[in-house]
Amino acid sequence: MKSIMKKIIKIFAYLIVAVLAAALIFLNWPLYQRSVPAAENEKPIDVVVIGGGIMSMTLSTFLQELQPDWNIEAFERLDAVGLESSNGWNNAGTGHAAFAELNYTPEKNGVVKTDRAVRITEQFEVSRQFWAHQVRAGRLSSHPQDFINATPHMSFVWGDANIEFLRKRHAALVQQPMFYGMQFSTDQEQIRQWAPLLIEGRDPQQKVAATYMPLGTDVNFGVITNQLTAALQKQPNFKLNLQHEVRALRQNSDKTWNVTVYDLATQTEKTVKAKFVFIGAGGASLKLLQMSGIPEAQNYAGFPVGGQFLSFDNPSLTTQHRAKVYGQAETGAPPMSVPHLDTRFLDGKQTMLFGPFALYSTKFLKNGSWFDLLSSVNIHNVAGMMAVGVENLDLVQYLVQQAMLTDSDRQAELLKYYPSAKPDSWKLITAGQRVQIIKKDLEKGSVLQFGTEIVADKDHTIAALLGASPGASTSPSIMLGLLPKAFPEQMAQGWEARIKEIVPSYGRQINSSPALTNEIRRATSETLQLPYIEVPADLNHPNPAQAMPPVIPAAPAANDEKNLNKEEQAM
Ligand SMILES: Cc1cc2nc3c(=O)[nH]c(=O)nc-3n(C[C@H](O)[C@H](O)[C@H](O)COP(=O)(O)OP(=O)(O)OC[C@H]3O[C@@H](n4cnc5c(N)ncnc54)[C@H](O)[C@@H]3O)c2cc1C
Repeated sequence: MKSIMKKIIKIFAYLIVAVLAAALIFLNWPLYQRSVPAAENEKPIDVVVIGGGIMSMTLSTFLQELQPDWNIEAFERLDAVGLESSNGWNNAGTGHAAFAELNYTPEKNGVVKTDRAVRITEQFEVSRQFWAHQVRAGRLSSHPQDFINATPHMSFVWGDANIEFLRKRHAALVQQPMFYGMQFSTDQEQIRQWAPLLIEGRDPQQKVAATYMPLGTDVNFGVITNQLTAALQKQPNFKLNLQHEVRALRQNSDKTWNVTVYDLATQTEKTVKAKFVFIGAGGASLKLLQMSGIPEAQNYAGFPVGGQFLSFDNPSLTTQHRAKVYGQAETGAPPMSVPHLDTRFLDGKQTMLFGPFALYSTKFLKNGSWFDLLSSVNIHNVAGMMAVGVENLDLVQYLVQQAMLTDSDRQAELLKYYPSAKPDSWKLITAGQRVQIIKKDLEKGSVLQFGTEIVADKDHTIAALLGASPGASTSPSIMLGLLPKAFPEQMAQGWEARIKEIVPSYGRQINSSPALTNEIRRATSETLQLPYIEVPADLNHPNPAQAMPPVIPAAPAANDEKNLNKEEQAM
């Protein structure tokens, strides 16, 4: 008996050693050390962009305008651009301007902090200027409703503490020029006028409050991606390669990069040489950054969270709701999981989405691999990932709860915002994947971050965009942030002046004065056909005529030929 026990213990010991050895080999396996063949081009391409989402196409558009003589080559693994997170059905389409998102204005010691909200609204004004410039330049549609539509942004809460918070938030924000025009109410009848579905069937005694900002927008980032790409392709020095997956990256001794690409159609591989590489591969950017082997990559890990929405397509319902209504997040919920009831303009129709519900998956892309998460773990980030998991147990618990939700749980959540909703009026659709950043921090060890981050090498030869939020809404300002990190010489030699023609507020704080806010907003509202509110010089003594809310333009007609945003539905 004793000798059998000894044998079993021995086998277990061997097994443990074998597992530990395998884990050590796995964690130390250098992802970037696969062999990379010689490049087929002698003269390097000026810029290679990896991924055909809104980020790569925004950067390429900036570069084509700033340096028209540069060659740019894009590689996208799918059959078309804008099919992953940038696709209209794969995100919520909110033009994040911090008008409604309560997590952008935390309350500390009874004071509502507005600095983050102001920063985000500044970034969104940069997007409006960039898109307006592209409309004027003919790169985006002269019928802007194809990609951006006036959709008031509302925050909606219940319960005394939340109502008090919203009151304070409104009072603090309307002191800022860029938030002028936001209204607050606790009156159900007023809220019904803003968004009837929120009140229909609600207990008249329930205490609720809402803010209403007429300047909010719904944006179809997929259409923007497609239109920018089509415009880029009109120039001979931009080349788009679809069904081409980047599989390896290696830096040469002269600092150029060899980029190995697999052609999924012909099942052949080629390697091209580039002076600069932008990794705009959405959730997959982390793995490509790791593949590059640059030391900066060692500071990062990723944590994927997908999203699902309830989608309504009955026009008798969808046309009754013209707003994006954001609520309060549940305890432990990541910021991007704040519930919202949204008007969307997709595929030439006004539709409505409610969500998101978090969907746990180990994929980094909607069309990714189940091994994405595992293959991104290495000796440099494994400890940080484990520490972040332990520190964020409420997030882990939230994700487990979300994974167990049934249709009736989702319906119950919906009823809090839309009390008369019927269970058979919606269907569940799966949206895109977001990969949150886990980053090494000198003080805290490792932290989970919900924003975006540009990671670049010290020689300015490669840069990657990690993270997802506020995301596509702020893509032009994210790319403006990349330019000095990636192209410092060119910035010093004249790009800045040209950037000011594209984004007139470049280098200035729009919120610093009502006059500048008016100047910038008036111009973009005119080009993008969005409502405009004149901000008074003295915010505390507005002229009553100026305080009149603007008229929200009628929704574009369904199936209007000019408004067909043909996109693949993310079902
Ligand atoms: C559920 C959800 C809701 C969201 N809501 C909003 C919102 O309301 N407002 C907002 O502003 N943002 C929102 N976002 C975020 C926004 O969608 C993203 O920030 C944005 O689309 C990211 O664009 P991208 O170009 O970086 O990535 P993507 O659009 O994902 O594009 C990356 C591309 O790279 C390609 N690719 C990947 N790997 C390779 C490879 N090895 N070789 C070649 N190609 C490759 C992919 O196929 C893909 O086409 C949301 C995201 C999600 C998931």
